[in-house]
Amino acid sequence: MKIRIGHLYPDLLNLYGDRGNIQCLKKRMQWRGIDAEVQEFQITDTISFLDLDIVLLGGGSDREQMLVCEKLKTIRQDFKEYVEDNGVVIAVCGGYQLLGHYYDTDDGRIEGLSLVDLYTEQGTPRLISNIVIQNDLFPYPIVGFENHGGRTFIGDNKPLGKVLFGYGNNETEKAEGVLYKNVIGTYLHGPLLPKNPHICDYLIKNALERKYGTSDLSPLDDEQELQANRYIVERFVK
Ligand code: GLN
Repeated sequence: MKIRIGHLYPDLLNLYGDRGNIQCLKKRMQWRGIDAEVQEFQITDTISFLDLDIVLLGGGSDREQMLVCEKLKTIRQDFKEYVEDNGVVIAVCGGYQLLGHYYDTDDGRIEGLSLVDLYTEQGTPRLISNIVIQNDLFPYPIVGFENHGGRTFIGDNKPLGKVLFGYGNNETEKAEGVLYKNVIGTYLHGPLLPKNPHICDYLIKNALERKYGTSDLSPLDDEQELQANRYIVERFVK
């Protein structure tokens, strides 16, 4: 079995160690004897979504998002077809905002991909915090760090989790991220997947299921990762 991971624009969207997410995906597949190939795409490259099984869109500053936004218009249709065909996507922070219709900033509107029905508006202050969220779909809480000026509104979509500590999508809704088909959008970085192996395996399972119709993952020894996860939960959630 072989899974191809496409890393979109690592030169521009690589805040807060998003590369760690790629390493984690790769390692957890290799440890199970699954071939994992990573393809990095620069802004000038053509992307064949038909060849990809997992797409990672990382975080970027507002300036970098503005640069990427022009390019996104040209890949929007292919990316949309990939998502609607249950393609797996993990979009973090700036990448999460770009999944939506737009991100309104003081310097103007950054058009998004409109892959998921959501939008983002800049606000003050920046929302900076450790964060813990919970979703009954997953066996453990999801932990991470957030740092964003944007407030995201996901309408009727499902969030990735309910906020137990921190801010999440915005100050008022106590919800974090979005789950749409096989797409996860989230403000959590730090990076997300090494801190939350259960989310990493969720992505791998969905990619295998889509490609091979089967998704049996042999268990790995996650004792240390889960200890670290528990430590954060116990530190912040009373
Ligand atoms: N530029 C976006 C914001 O500040 C996202 C930042 C990020 O990727 N951390 O809201």
